[in-house]
Amino acid sequence: MQRAITGFHLDEHGDWVAELACGHGQHVRHKPPFQLRPWVVTAEGRASRIGVELTCVRCDDAPG
Ligand SMILES: [Zn+2]
Repeated sequence: MQRAITGFHLDEHGDWVAELACGHGQHVRHKPPFQLRPWVVTAEGRASRIGVELTCVRCDDAPG
């Protein structure tokens, strides 16, 4: 399910979590060389992703 990003927050480990329109959160980590999301570490980069849709795996897993 594609859900729009409405905001971001840091989890208890200091990893960024995208807040989705459905109410779920999804990690958007920048952990080179495995996960490359250099945009997530800057306020400008995160702001540029507001409204962009991510696949919400929790919605996909939800029954019904
Ligand atoms: Zn969801």
